[in-house]
Amino acid sequence: MVKKQYHNRVGICFKPMQVYCTLMIATLVGMTLLHFFWKNADDIKTVHEQTELSQKTLAQNHADPRKSTFQGEKIVHLDLKGAPPKITYYHKLFPLLAKLGASGILIEYEDMFPYMGELENITALNSYTLEDIAIINKLAQDNNLRIIPLIPTFGHLEFILKLSEYKDYREVMAYPQVICPIHRDTLKLIKNMVIQIVKSHPNIDSIHIGADEVYYLGICSGCTEYMSKNNISKNALFLMHVKNVVDMINTLFPKLKILMWDDQFRSLSEKEMKMINFDIEPVVWKYTKDVYDELGPSLWGSYKKVFSKIWTASAFKGATASNAFVSKVTHYLQNHRSWMSVMEEFKHQLNFQGIIITGWQRYDHFAVLCELLPVGIPTLAMSLRLLQGYDDSPLSPPMEVAKILQCEQPYGLIGLFFGSPKCSFPGGDILEYVLHLEQLIQEYDIIMEDSRVKGWMNDYSVAHVYSSPSYVDSATSSLSRMKTDLEQIDSGITIAMADVYDEYTINEWKETYIKPLKRKIKKIWDIRKLLLERDTWPRRPLKHDEN
Ligand SMILES: [Zn+2]
Repeated sequence: MVKKQYHNRVGICFKPMQVYCTLMIATLVGMTLLHFFWKNADDIKTVHEQTELSQKTLAQNHADPRKSTFQGEKIVHLDLKGAPPKITYYHKLFPLLAKLGASGILIEYEDMFPYMGELENITALNSYTLEDIAIINKLAQDNNLRIIPLIPTFGHLEFILKLSEYKDYREVMAYPQVICPIHRDTLKLIKNMVIQIVKSHPNIDSIHIGADEVYYLGICSGCTEYMSKNNISKNALFLMHVKNVVDMINTLFPKLKILMWDDQFRSLSEKEMKMINFDIEPVVWKYTKDVYDELGPSLWGSYKKVFSKIWTASAFKGATASNAFVSKVTHYLQNHRSWMSVMEEFKHQLNFQGIIITGWQRYDHFAVLCELLPVGIPTLAMSLRLLQGYDDSPLSPPMEVAKILQCEQPYGLIGLFFGSPKCSFPGGDILEYVLHLEQLIQEYDIIMEDSRVKGWMNDYSVAHVYSSPSYVDSATSSLSRMKTDLEQIDSGITIAMADVYDEYTINEWKETYIKPLKRKIKKIWDIRKLLLERDTWPRRPLKHDEN
């Protein structure tokens, strides 16, 4: 019932932007028609030129509308350090990912893995079980998705180093992020994690050992002493630890290929690069719009001398703001276009194995949740389509993606100003409520920027209960409806999220994104009530408030 009312309200365009929106749609329809005629004109030209083209070329053109096809792996990152989906969701998610063109999953359990024995205490209280992981393995296999587990082995070990029993392992005592590479039990701890995770995934052929963002290196007294005694740099200490981890994995599981993030390699000197004498496949990650410029051309020249195989990593969510709850579609699509052109340019010099499409759920273990997985699925779908070589016109709605995701309103996939896309893919209703929440936040911000609020609902106005009722009333007249809308979003998303997430995730997400807006709306609502209650006012000057 609630959901039905909500859908009726949303319509094609959100209310405050209807005029703008109508103009935009008219413009787009116009452009699409122009595009159509232009395309047809092109077809007519093609007919005239047919005699000059061989039949074979024509057949090739019609067989595949893709501009260029990226042949490597297309691995989707599942970041479980926040909002881990219920196992039942994987039954729906994996077939969808396969249909969208993914070839595998990079699964980052963090504390969601059911560690046993000595490691039992690092496991989250709502972790998966080994039976759950067996189901994930089976579902991945059924959908032809290869699994690559990601195990952090240097930086981003917050989930372990935060605990009192692992305090000693920290490189910097005050910051539980990076593990000390020369602590006597560091390798034993990593070995134990690797063994448990690899054994729970009997069919894997690769693992990813993280090793990104090692912000604190060679700082503790043990490391500084070690570096000076052996006359080595911080970078050499980094490489020594990675080599130890790689050697350990090679001994235990000789058939496993080992991937790791590349960012620590970027600052290595030529001499230090030559010290990489272990078999690793670096994953070059960049989530910005212009990958080429930001990484710089010299990186590729240096990598091709050292690495026989290389991976890249883009993003479909969780890479524009630590507290984003809606994915910036254009940003992420541009990131993928940029990666496509970099890989095209360097494909003859480097052996690209595939791309990992990351979907971060938190910036780190301590950060708040960013975009939920179902919220990022349209962006993921459009990114995978780009990677398959379909460069759809940015002026037209992505009809093929809309079809797979069962969206009633394909224009909504391009951006919020076209309204919500109304998709029926698993979790699509979460996306609808999230977009409605974003609209409410925008409405609230517009009210707070209103001159009537700034001039007649100021702290001074409140302290003296002294304001003009007509301005207070008109500036905040939509608050009552907004309160009702927010209640509907709250109850609706609670039900929608229950299909995908456990109660802990639902509560955390609502506390992060719904509660603050409720609090803010209540505050301005209370001010409105207070200022409207008065019907006579004292003579000026008003009494000075000494507090
Ligand atoms: Zn240390």
